[in-house]
Amino acid sequence: MYGWWGRVLYINLTTKRVKEVALDASIYAEYLGGRGLAVKLLWDLNPIGVDPYSPYSHLVIAIGPLSSLPAPSSGKVQVAAKSPLTLGYGDGNLGSMASYHLKRCGYDALVVTGVAKKPTYLYIEDGKVEFRDAEDLWGLDTFTTEEKLIKEHGRNVGILLIGPAGENLVRYATVVSQRGRSGGRPGMGAVMGSKRLKAIVVKGSREPMIADREKFRKVAEEAYNKILKSEAYEFWIRQGTMATIVWSQQNSVLPTMNFREGLWEEYESISGDLMEKLKVARRGCPYCNMQCGNVIHDIAGEESELDYENVAMLGSNIFLSDLRRVAEVNKLADKLGVDTISLGNALGFYMEASERKLVDERLEWGDHREIKRLVVDIAYRRGLGAFLAEGVMRMARSLGREAMDFAMHVKGLEISAYDCHVAPAMALAYATSPIGAHHKDAWIIAYEVKTDRLGYTKEKVERLIFLQDVRGGMFESLTTCRLPWVEVGLDLDYYPKLLSAATGVTWTLDDIRVVAHRIYTLIRAYWIREHGYWSHEFDYPPARWFKHPLTKGPYAGGKLDFEKFNRMLDMYYEMRGWDERGVPKKETLKKLNLEFTISILEKVVELK
Ligand code: SF4
Repeated sequence: MYGWWGRVLYINLTTKRVKEVALDASIYAEYLGGRGLAVKLLWDLNPIGVDPYSPYSHLVIAIGPLSSLPAPSSGKVQVAAKSPLTLGYGDGNLGSMASYHLKRCGYDALVVTGVAKKPTYLYIEDGKVEFRDAEDLWGLDTFTTEEKLIKEHGRNVGILLIGPAGENLVRYATVVSQRGRSGGRPGMGAVMGSKRLKAIVVKGSREPMIADREKFRKVAEEAYNKILKSEAYEFWIRQGTMATIVWSQQNSVLPTMNFREGLWEEYESISGDLMEKLKVARRGCPYCNMQCGNVIHDIAGEESELDYENVAMLGSNIFLSDLRRVAEVNKLADKLGVDTISLGNALGFYMEASERKLVDERLEWGDHREIKRLVVDIAYRRGLGAFLAEGVMRMARSLGREAMDFAMHVKGLEISAYDCHVAPAMALAYATSPIGAHHKDAWIIAYEVKTDRLGYTKEKVERLIFLQDVRGGMFESLTTCRLPWVEVGLDLDYYPKLLSAATGVTWTLDDIRVVAHRIYTLIRAYWIREHGYWSHEFDYPPARWFKHPLTKGPYAGGKLDFEKFNRMLDMYYEMRGWDERGVPKKETLKKLNLEFTISILEKVVELK
């Protein structure tokens, strides 16, 4: 087999047993790698209803057939597990040399289970696994831990690690690499922490086997050149995703004061133009020639790597102006291993609850000093921080009915940085995202504001499914970054071409979309299996967007229409081959070769 090794490494932290398991070639043909491989492994290995923190819960680190090969932005790695935040399927990707080295160790994925007796880190070099003592590292922030591990193992390694937030089981703790590259929003860092696993260090030396190296080189070189020559490249290199602050403001989708409004009078204080003036460096992921990690000095004079999501959520959404202050909070979150999107939501939610006098302890909008203190307390679960560490859904449930209306999450995962009062398709994208409210699967908002902004149309649903298949299916499973396509217009055809050259099997975009549909349906089956039932309401965006209209800007008075949204959701289910509850139909499961899910699902729901 070319492109994949056909091998997964299982590591049990309780028994310290390690074994290599060969996977059948059909698994790769049906799931590709990354997210696809992860959900298949979690379906097969996790006991039904497992507590995400139990020793029997599995953490999967997976890469794809293009990993460790010189192709545009191929340096991503997927981390996946049952989420402690949503109790459903959770995953995330991050750019890391761990992707490069894991491939060169000769594996397509690592599967970690059990719980170590004491803090541990794994050192994996080619086929050899060492369980190393991490007691000296436990409690250290991610930057310091990484420096110590580099000192011990040298720079030529890939490192995935957690900070205090993961150790203390903050439900939205992430996995971090390379000072600020962070992924696994639905608590993948907490799952690592529950296993007392501080870090995974990988070093590999095996050259990946691919079918046609010369062809691969030619296609990849052409794609790299297209990126460099694209019209959008120069501006992208200057601002990266930070340009989105002004775009969101202009289109009334900038999350402001816990998604109360879609624009903010002080947006210039956090804009991409300002960031350009303050920029001191640019960083990025391996194999990327359009690196977007823009670094500025924060208010304390330290480096902080910014992007749109973290600046909007820790800026306009909590009313914190001054980019250098926002950068300081962002740096703290990266060091502690807290997800910035969920953090901005948790803070915004609490500020609003405080304003409405639903809680005793006050927190004012934009109070920089208190915010900083609270971020640290969240990571260590101290005082009020322990409450915010639970995430918005659980906080709202404990505060009652009124609070649920302004709790900005779907399925327990907090909303990323696009307000959807007047963006019905983006609201549907959040509602049907397979991990809860995240934008990575379908950033349809750019298309929506350019076309029929207020429509609840079939065309939008079709576009949404296309985006999910490409972004959430193809990119998440190839474990390559979607931004060359999204931001500088790299032709999608390059990806099936690269996949074909790597594997020696001819792939088309349509073939990949079938795989994507299978992955989405298996993830949906996983959620149903874990929750024990399913209905429309699991796939609803937050009540605020239906109930509390915008009060400012050109869309003042705008809000979502409940009946029309439901009709769009019905169209979505139908196009996916799921029934009116959102449960995959038996014929869909059979068509996608997911028959193995049928007898399990039939124990909890009636399949139509
Ligand atoms: S575009 Fe940005 S996120 Fe994507 S691979 Fe490059 S540096 Fe990483």
